[in-house]
Amino acid sequence: MSTLVKGGTIVTAGDTYEADILIDNGIIALIGNFLEAQVDQVIDASGSYVLPGAIDVHTHLELSVSGTVSSDDFYTGTVAAACGGTTTIIDYADQMRGEPLAKGLEARLAAARGKAVIDYGFHLVLTDYNARVAGEMAEVVSAGVSSFKCFLAYKGRSMIDDGTLLVLLSRSKEIGALTCVHCENGEVIDVLTRKLLSEGKTSTRYHPKSRPPEVEAEATGRAIALAEMALAPVYIVHLTTAQSLEKVRAARARGLTVYAETCPQYLLLSADKYDEPGFEAAKYVMSPPLRPRSHQGALWTGLGNGDIQVVATDHCPFNFKEQKELGREDFSRIPNGAPGIETRLYLLYTEGVAKGRISLNRFVDLVATAPAKLFGLYPKKGTIAVGSDADLVVWDPKVRHVLSVETLHQNVDYDPYEGFEAMGKPTVVMSRGKVIAKNGTFLGQAGTGAFLRRKPYPGVI
Ligand SMILES: [Zn+2]
Repeated sequence: MSTLVKGGTIVTAGDTYEADILIDNGIIALIGNFLEAQVDQVIDASGSYVLPGAIDVHTHLELSVSGTVSSDDFYTGTVAAACGGTTTIIDYADQMRGEPLAKGLEARLAAARGKAVIDYGFHLVLTDYNARVAGEMAEVVSAGVSSFKCFLAYKGRSMIDDGTLLVLLSRSKEIGALTCVHCENGEVIDVLTRKLLSEGKTSTRYHPKSRPPEVEAEATGRAIALAEMALAPVYIVHLTTAQSLEKVRAARARGLTVYAETCPQYLLLSADKYDEPGFEAAKYVMSPPLRPRSHQGALWTGLGNGDIQVVATDHCPFNFKEQKELGREDFSRIPNGAPGIETRLYLLYTEGVAKGRISLNRFVDLVATAPAKLFGLYPKKGTIAVGSDADLVVWDPKVRHVLSVETLHQNVDYDPYEGFEAMGKPTVVMSRGKVIAKNGTFLGQAGTGAFLRRKPYPGVI
């Protein structure tokens, strides 16, 4: 099967140029000018950009948490991703207490198998560390899971102590894995939450009060300090505040290998959502919480100047009815998370590229190239080059559309960006050379996504 993507403007992290792309058996075979090529299928990309398929390295499909399960499974979630221009995700597998790491990975492979419509990988979440785990970490890296995640939040559940983080960072470095850290101080959150609840402050508006910006900045600084002691790289997930970013910036300026990710919700939405009447604010209960708008300028600056390398989503949807409602009487029981797997490119393109805050090439870097490099997928994924997978997005920058739960594909009963006027839309989305979405309609099949055996962390990118 051969395909010609014709007449488009190719955009990578480094270049913007007009050329055709010849695809053979799912791989980019040639880039050039092929007016006469004999192919099975021609896709007209004239007037559009051709982008590498986007990569979302922070998703939670079918995640069991707080007595419920996130509402997108590996089918609905990846269909939504595909329609929005994302062709690869990295989700999470959990270490099961006392069990081999491979067992946690197997459970998630089984959940994705037969369902995922785009390619996928997993980070492995670590909560316990001992000599056996140290050995198994190397096996997991060989099996294609070259990143671990741990939490400085969620006391009594996934939180690890500083000593454990230190040895995890050090061991990960040794075996070619990147350590991703959720940076919020779980001890402090625990105290603040109990204090608020004991004072009868149970409504949703107190969620952000239980985890203020300082809680994140402290943990970010601590994770960086431990990474420095371990001589290891560290990746800070969902960074949200100016203070945390300042810690990352200062560390990078000193030559430390520190990476940061942020998400559209922290760039576009702000803490005033928690003042919405009734229980509406529960739609925005996530951790870290939305911040005062004053932090957003710093985050945009960080995206532009390279202090933040990745924009992912932390997609973790729960229906407002019956799921978010579990916490009607107690904010600490509201399942944490919001949908975003489908809307990332719309939001970042409209607010970032169209408003002149970031270049088109920087946009591609943030959503595709840098994530591919950091997480062992480059150059198979994350760019447009001969030999790369033909994961492509034909992006029409002229289309204007309004985001709504009525038309989005995410399996959840609300959208945090309802009514947002977006610029730009994928007219064609291809996964390994096959058209899987056209103009917002999914055309692929369940189970065609493949598990990606990722390469080890490559060193500084
Ligand atoms: Zn997350």
